Amino acid sequence: MAGNRIPKRAPSRGKAARHKGKRNKVGRKRGEHLTRKPEVLQGVGKPHTMRMSKSKIGGFNEWCQYSWALENIMGIKGSSAHWTTFGVDCHQIVEEYYRGMMECKTEEELLDYTAEYDYEGHPTIVIDEQMRTHMDNVLEIDRKRIDTLIAAGVNLLDYAAPVGVELYMKVPDGTNVKDGEISGMIDLVFRELDGTIGIYDLKTGKISDVNKHYFQLHLYKWMFEILNPDETVSKIGILWSKDGTVDIAEPNKRSYNSAIKKVQTTRDKIKLAVEEGTEDNPIAGFKKALRNPFPCSYCPIEHKRICWKEQYDVDLE
Ligand code: SF4
Repeated sequence: MAGNRIPKRAPSRGKAARHKGKRNKVGRKRGEHLTRKPEVLQGVGKPHTMRMSKSKIGGFNEWCQYSWALENIMGIKGSSAHWTTFGVDCHQIVEEYYRGMMECKTEEELLDYTAEYDYEGHPTIVIDEQMRTHMDNVLEIDRKRIDTLIAAGVNLLDYAAPVGVELYMKVPDGTNVKDGEISGMIDLVFRELDGTIGIYDLKTGKISDVNKHYFQLHLYKWMFEILNPDETVSKIGILWSKDGTVDIAEPNKRSYNSAIKKVQTTRDKIKLAVEEGTEDNPIAGFKKALRNPFPCSYCPIEHKRICWKEQYDVDLE
């Protein structure tokens, strides 16, 4: 991904009526077939060999193991917080934008499409001021990127259109992370100018340092290269939609190895916690958050209700 100069193009606003129910080039209605859908519980009942993912690993290690186990072992799904649904909506629009780019047949068509793309009037997503800020930032970043590619004189169909968007990956058993599958979804995959691959994650929340996301990015590199043995991921990065910046880094061996190791150590801890469960409470071995009220303040009410009843004998509404 590359980009330096901001092209002067009109902001994409005010075409709501024109876009209502509009179909794209391949006859799909806007918003159909987008991949970022609510998660389906996987692997309940096979705790230490369940399919892992970056969010399952992060949730177990960095949030509350008990809430994690209520969801992933007991199958009690927590409702989403507002900021989660906002993030999902942002991802859906970004996915729609890039999927449309992948369907372009000529460079001219691609340029017209990117210049005219308008997120207003989405049939299912509410476009408010916050959403406009994030989406304008994403489109501006992308227009800078395309300008850089034009300046480099490369074929835009090969380099501007992503290789993958919301790319779902599933690595089966039998790899060097033992005892179960692992899956993940890369937001954006691009062909870099040197022919290698760059993988990028879109973050709609708080801006931080790219190295705080090394686990996720190196894990995705590992998975992508297993599934595509002829490719090399040479760039990893985060696209921050809140302020329209992009952080790009080169993968490093240490973070790569530690990402793979973390998958296995998490599986081992889950296995141990399951073994400590009792007949009355199969998830008794999973620790409750010690940093109350954080992350308790973000705990889904379905989990908090159970937890508070056990811990304080309080019935929450
Ligand atoms: S209320 Fe706090 S300790 Fe209890 S399950 Fe939720 S996050 Fe964990």
